[in-house]
Amino acid sequence: GATPLTGRVAVVTGASSGIGEATAERLAELGASVALLARRKDNLAELADRITAAGGTALALPVDVTDRQAVADAAREVRDRLGRADLVFNNAGVQLISPIEDLRVDDWQRQIDLNVTGVMNVIAAFVPHLVEAAEAGGPADLVNTSSIAATRVLEKFSVYSGTKAYISHLTRLLRVELGRKMVRVSSIEPGMVDTELPDHVTDPDASELMAGLLREIECLSSADVAETVAFVASVPRHVNLTEITVLPTAQA
Ligand code: NDP
Repeated sequence: GATPLTGRVAVVTGASSGIGEATAERLAELGASVALLARRKDNLAELADRITAAGGTALALPVDVTDRQAVADAAREVRDRLGRADLVFNNAGVQLISPIEDLRVDDWQRQIDLNVTGVMNVIAAFVPHLVEAAEAGGPADLVNTSSIAATRVLEKFSVYSGTKAYISHLTRLLRVELGRKMVRVSSIEPGMVDTELPDHVTDPDASELMAGLLREIECLSSADVAETVAFVASVPRHVNLTEITVLPTAQA
């Protein structure tokens, strides 16, 4: 029978782990065909197999989203193999916290390359799909993963927070332009979610800070965030849930 996302074509970046993986799986369960973008080929292939085995449709596209041409090529492949995308979960991101005076400039650059440039590459490749989908009269969603770090002032989070503030404000601006065309634009701002995100931190003290926070309270699971994204895409077309904060109940 028809489920809330039957006939939708979803693109999920960062689909090889954490929030992206769980969201791709949930969107597929609810009937969407899903294109899976990230770098780790094996993870994507496993996820695609799992979705297919459950009766869904998935297309694994190993892509580094900081590579503009590779993302543009992926968009063409999505169109050829699944059809025009009408739900884009712009989610790939990296969090490399450290004190500013450590001058971990490579970490600063990696966050800017992925969380800003990568996010823009996805927008450039898929906004035309979304506008077309809306013009054809169907739902169209751009959902960007921001963070509560976009608005909170957290020590050692400076560059990461800056990139997420960029994403949250970008979302507001895009909504003004695209909402008029019936494309919904949303940002999800999660609190602590138990994923691989802290594993990449290169500063040992910052890494211990994250691990401590994760032990202290019952965090969100990736599935909790996935359910939120699915809800945003499932409400009637004239309803745009724009900025959604999802916190673990016990997180301050
Ligand atoms: P993960 O580290 O599990 O997921 C990050 C994803 O991004 C992976 O699938 C990774 O895949 C992908 N990725 C990294 N670099 C690239 C790249 N260059 N090109 C394509 N994909 C890439 O962490 P989360 O699931 O937690 O993170 C998802 C999003 O959620 C991020 O934007 C993060 O900032 C945000 N967030 C997370 C919170 C948390 O507490 N976990 C809280 C608030 C926001 P691969 O390495 O295979 O490329």
